Amino acid sequence: MTSTPGASRDGRPLLNSRLAEFGTTIFAEMSALAVATGAINLGQGFPDTDGPEEVREAAVRALRDGRGNQYPPGPGVPELRAAIAAHQERRYGLTFDPDLEVLVTAGATEAIAASLLALVEPGDEVIALEPYYDSYAASIALAGGTRVPVTLRPDGDPGTGGAAAGRRFTLDLDELRDAVTPRTRLLLLNTPHNPTGTVLSRAELAEIARLAVEHDLLVVTDEVYEHLVFDAPGHLPLATFPGMRERTVTISSAGKTFSFTGWKVGWVTAPPDLIAAVRSAKQFLTYVSSGPFQYAVAEALALPDAYFTAFLDDMRAKRDLLASGLAAAGFAVHRPAGTYFVTTDIRPLGQEDGIAFCRALPERAGVVAIPNAVFYDHRDAGAPFVRFAFCKRTSVLEEAVARLKSL
Ligand SMILES: *Cc1c(COP(=O)(O)O)cnc(C)c1O
Repeated sequence: MTSTPGASRDGRPLLNSRLAEFGTTIFAEMSALAVATGAINLGQGFPDTDGPEEVREAAVRALRDGRGNQYPPGPGVPELRAAIAAHQERRYGLTFDPDLEVLVTAGATEAIAASLLALVEPGDEVIALEPYYDSYAASIALAGGTRVPVTLRPDGDPGTGGAAAGRRFTLDLDELRDAVTPRTRLLLLNTPHNPTGTVLSRAELAEIARLAVEHDLLVVTDEVYEHLVFDAPGHLPLATFPGMRERTVTISSAGKTFSFTGWKVGWVTAPPDLIAAVRSAKQFLTYVSSGPFQYAVAEALALPDAYFTAFLDDMRAKRDLLASGLAAAGFAVHRPAGTYFVTTDIRPLGQEDGIAFCRALPERAGVVAIPNAVFYDHRDAGAPFVRFAFCKRTSVLEEAVARLKSL
């Protein structure tokens, strides 16, 4: 959400006013810095190794067998829709009709955009948890909605650095309640939450559900990190709470769970009327996408529990490695309960401005990170926080930690 001065022609800006504030993302700037300085890129959240060999082979097989090489069906190939429904049932006991209640999209990104474009009328208010994933603000803007941020705030004080294991970014439920107005159309949630690593608790989700039912709100929930919850009870889909199955649009994606972020296979599960609405918008965005990859993801979703457990164990070890390394380097660390990001506080290092800190970090220490401030409307609230990704090879994380010791 960093903006750069937009190009114009004949005195008129080329980029329309809805998108003007979203010039270029911070990821482009920081990734360019990583390349220019040879720094280790812990900025953007993509794995530096590919997912399971058998899933990659499944994609190759689909390509060779001519499955998905032409336009797949608009809602997604039947095999994948059945696999998504089976996954929701096996993991969460949620049943969805694969023909009426499942929609395959071009990643979670398209699912988010299509949901907002379909469900939001210009002038409607959309409540989202701040800091937010950068596509939320842009998609709300494209839909003509007004975003109403509710800020997650760290409990405890940053102190003098170290791995304050208990500190998390928390949702103030009173603040959420106060944000609801007669113009509120929907809540846009994200748990596990990027960038803070917060996983909303059962009690918090129950309260959100009560609020949604009381005000008859729709909820769009981004659960792309559903398989990256490090502690019991694991992921709790909002749709499992009382009154939520019929008002929730649940979004997930294969990118994070199977480490194939380039395939862009995402999906929506929701009641038939909500799926039909989202599909109406989706059909004019991409129509369809990722043909052969859809067959491969269908196989991936049916992998035995051992895959998901091993993936989680590997990521937990990487979280611990990076979190303790950052603590040793003097950061205050908000140990994430989910996702593959660690949010740190730079104040114990004598710094206040995360954007300036991240711009200087590649030169100073040979590491790239992302300033959380770019994910906030209230930039001051996010100023001292900096995000590092740990979805990287262990040797890369070890080298990054060694470099950061110089701070
Ligand atoms: C990565 C990410 C997405 C995008 O997922 P794609 O399937 O790659 O489009 C959406 N939401 C959050 C919170 C993410 O971190």
